[in-house]
Amino acid sequence: MNLTRRGVMLVIASPSGAGKSSITRRLLDEQDNLTMSVSVTTRPMRKGEVDGKDYHFVKTKTFDRMRDAGDLLEWAEVHSNFYGTPVADVDQKIQAGQDVVFDIDYQGTQQLYEKRRDHLVSVFLLPPSIPELKSRLQGRALDSEEVIDRRLQNARVEMEHWAEYDYVLINDDLEKTSADVTNILKTAQISRARQTNLSGFIKELQSQIDSL
Ligand code: 5GP
Repeated sequence: MNLTRRGVMLVIASPSGAGKSSITRRLLDEQDNLTMSVSVTTRPMRKGEVDGKDYHFVKTKTFDRMRDAGDLLEWAEVHSNFYGTPVADVDQKIQAGQDVVFDIDYQGTQQLYEKRRDHLVSVFLLPPSIPELKSRLQGRALDSEEVIDRRLQNARVEMEHWAEYDYVLINDDLEKTSADVTNILKTAQISRARQTNLSGFIKELQSQIDSL
């Protein structure tokens, strides 16, 4: 008997610099059935980013149009830019049994809880300390000191929402945290809520008993 299942919607959130990208990249490399949800954003493209892969980079007018047309499953303003998750691709994948990982903030996670509770598993990563977080942000050399300070202030706000997540992990060891996130995904894949033809299988077993 082959049980079929819906996909898992896996949110991995963290203050920027807490290791979310590395963990997500590893997970995507290791899990064949997992793809990344590519958000739309009004943020300017950073050096090295690829349109359609890292984000769909759009003008504010396009973003507003998508939001007003209901094309976004969730959206939020983060660091003075707008971000949102296109709904169609995600829903199609979940119904087809493919798992999707999201890099979205707490506001987006709250909206997914409201709209797709049954499909969602959420993980919040914490840095081991703030000096460590700050040095990771400086080490990336992506942003100016001013932007880094703003991200640290935002980290404060993000962390207030720790209790809204299913799992909270301290990322002091990339290997261990990656393994924990893999286990969380695997457990979610086999949970009862994910299965789509269990009741048919149970009926079949019952009818086999009846015909003994
Ligand atoms: P960045 O500009 O550094 O790529 O992302 C900034 C923040 O926006 C991150 O915390 C990221 O999780 C969040 N973010 C990215 N895409 C989305 C999205 O589609 N929705 C929401 N709510 N947040 C997002």
